[in-house]
Amino acid sequence: MKLAIMGGTFNPIHIGHLVCAEEAVSRYRLDKALFMPTGFPPHKEILEGASSEHRFRMCTIATEGNPRFEVSRFEIDRRQVSYTVNTIRHFRREMPDAELYFITGADAVLEILEWKDPQELLTMATLIAATRPGYPLDKISGALDVFLRENRVKIIEIPGIGVSSTLIRNRVAEGKSIRYLVLEGVRQFIQEKGLYRKT
Ligand code: ATP
Ligand code: MG
Repeated sequence: MKLAIMGGTFNPIHIGHLVCAEEAVSRYRLDKALFMPTGFPPHKEILEGASSEHRFRMCTIATEGNPRFEVSRFEIDRRQVSYTVNTIRHFRREMPDAELYFITGADAVLEILEWKDPQELLTMATLIAATRPGYPLDKISGALDVFLRENRVKIIEIPGIGVSSTLIRNRVAEGKSIRYLVLEGVRQFIQEKGLYRKT
């Protein structure tokens, strides 16, 4: 069993996240990509315009057409921002025989390696870092070199998608269209619930 976890706030989930996970799954023949929306302190939810439940629901909607994609409530149910290393530790314990991967974009991989017990993280899971427009991995990869050499971090080149959740939130607030930047079901959900609108 090859299981990859993809963490994020997914506020909201967009095509960049999906392409990233799909590339990792097909490239490394993974059995499953588990989307892991992070928990949030309650005050931050109000600021950001979507609750944990809404972020979770949007992940479910966006992934339901892909048999290899699933969404986990693990971090949301802990009701706080979780450290990746703790989450991986949990899955390591629960599924001792699984081969674990963690998928990130080029921006997030550096955060993880710089802040959160990277040695332990990388003994438990292989990091798959996807290219992302605006975050050139080669220029800022000093911290990555040693892990790349040891094959604990793998870089995958994906079709460049210059979409972020921030962009989506801003476009909704400005009354601009987000069609095709998120899956249609997610767009409808955002509209129905009135998420990210300027109040
Ligand atoms: P925000 O603008 O709110 O930070 P985001 O688009 O960066 O949102 P996150 O939920 O922060 O989305 O990211 C979750 C993971 O997905 C991170 O590892 C991030 O690097 C990756 N990711 C997000 N968008 C892209 C993209 N367009 N291309 C590649 N990776 C991406
Ligand atoms: Mg981000």
